[in-house]
Amino acid sequence: MSEITKEIERRRTFAIISHPDAGKTTLTEKFLLYGGAINQAGSVKGKATARHAVSDWMEIEKERGISVTSSVLQFEYGGFCINILDTPGHQDFSEDTYRTLMAADSAVMVIDGSKGVEAQTRKLFKVCVMRHIPIFTFINKMDRDAMDTFELLDDIEKELGIATCPVNWPIGSGKAFQGVYDRNSREVELFSDTQKGTRMGEVQKLSIDTGELDGILGEEARTKLDEEIELLDGAAAEFDQELVSKGELSPVFFGSALTNFGVETFLRHFLDMTTSPLPRMSDKGEIDPMTEPDFSAFVFKIQANMNKAHRDRIAFMRICSGAFTAGMSVYHVQGGKEVRLSQPQQMMASERKMIDSAYGGDIIGIFDPGIFSIGDTLTNAKDRYVYEGIPTFAPEHFARVRQMDTMKRKQFVKGINQIAQEGAIQIFQEYNTGMEEIIVGVVGVLQFDVLKYRLENEYNVEILLENLPYEHIRWIENEEIDMDRLSGTSDMKKIKDLKDRPLLLFIHEWSIRMTLERNDGLRLSEFGRS
Ligand code: GDP
Repeated sequence: MSEITKEIERRRTFAIISHPDAGKTTLTEKFLLYGGAINQAGSVKGKATARHAVSDWMEIEKERGISVTSSVLQFEYGGFCINILDTPGHQDFSEDTYRTLMAADSAVMVIDGSKGVEAQTRKLFKVCVMRHIPIFTFINKMDRDAMDTFELLDDIEKELGIATCPVNWPIGSGKAFQGVYDRNSREVELFSDTQKGTRMGEVQKLSIDTGELDGILGEEARTKLDEEIELLDGAAAEFDQELVSKGELSPVFFGSALTNFGVETFLRHFLDMTTSPLPRMSDKGEIDPMTEPDFSAFVFKIQANMNKAHRDRIAFMRICSGAFTAGMSVYHVQGGKEVRLSQPQQMMASERKMIDSAYGGDIIGIFDPGIFSIGDTLTNAKDRYVYEGIPTFAPEHFARVRQMDTMKRKQFVKGINQIAQEGAIQIFQEYNTGMEEIIVGVVGVLQFDVLKYRLENEYNVEILLENLPYEHIRWIENEEIDMDRLSGTSDMKKIKDLKDRPLLLFIHEWSIRMTLERNDGLRLSEFGRS
């Protein structure tokens, strides 16, 4: 095996998905603690800034001249080189959040044990399912009163439609939380609050068969545990690595990120069960990082510089195969020419730093003078393959954009198109009328503010946004359908994208089903082709 292949094989690139407040940041911090990337929990930056109000956030972007949103954290643990992809949540939830999942080889889903599956988890989860990547579940906050464990698993299976396999099992929750039972080793890991998780805790483990354990747990908890294990062994799905790899079975772990309990156990198992960089589909067939020696990568995110003085952008790319060295030239397939990859950046724990080498599985941010688009392929391979594109994800908020000063039409069109090219917004037009009005769709509402701010500051164009009531968009898969004869619902609106492809907007979700029923053969999709 070549040095490069060895480097690629030890890489683990994954995204953590969760509903806001489930504990994603806390868990990430604890991972970094074990990896030695930080010495004290509570030092991952970005979180505090992410919580700032919109205006503050813009100011911060401006001051630093670079985006504050991180993209990937890299650290070493147990011989693995780990890349955690950040999936922006909260108010900065955007299409980028979805796109990030396109660059991951697996996903860790963090669920609040007292809440079960929540809305945002569901949305992100759908993208993982579409890609058939392994999904691991960490049920967090067991130090708080949690839902019944069987109910939690049921919730995941029903809501997300994936089978679960608990690797360990919690003993109580909240004040009565005593630890977790490892079904494989038949050991109980006893809960101790490791100084609110600022240090790595000493883990105390006892075999389920020792009498000592009975005394510690108390009779009631012990009896309940025995009953639950019996029930579980009879009812739960058997662990099956193949199903895990296909994303059909999710291994489930319990713990408490805040108190640092169950985190290292989870990390160890997860690293064993997850995958090294996966092959990726191209127009010339699957490209496997284990056999393809040449460098290849695709762009999954473009971040504009908020500083007016530097109107450059950073293109984030996922390296799929081979090795990268700073300043190397590679062929940009969509652009049709060689480009030099300069100023490569990577996030290490809490700071951005320049790097000189990277391998398949890694993510790098490259200075982009405006030549890259989302989904573009870069490669040094002789047969210049193109990686499968990144789908366009359904926006959930729509607004009509009006220009205040119609004299500035040219700037307006240029600005809005550039911002759309970066993938921050999607633009549409009325279907039939010759009206030049533009409808903007976004995944997260913050993008409306970003659009307005950037048009004003970078293009000197003032706009008025009029919110539209639509919440659901569907691409029409069979484009040959006669749009004029399409029989929809009263809350439906026909629009088209910039390539004149027809789409439908709906206020109510149930209208989608009705429209499908009324139009024989109509096929609608939640994902668009880019
Ligand atoms: P994120 O929004 O998913 O990144 O969530 P955070 O990591 O910021 O956590 C949200 C809140 O839950 C914070 O106040 C954390 O301190 C708290 N929290 C996270 N994990 C735990 C846990 O295991 N137990 C308890 N009790 N609180 C937790």
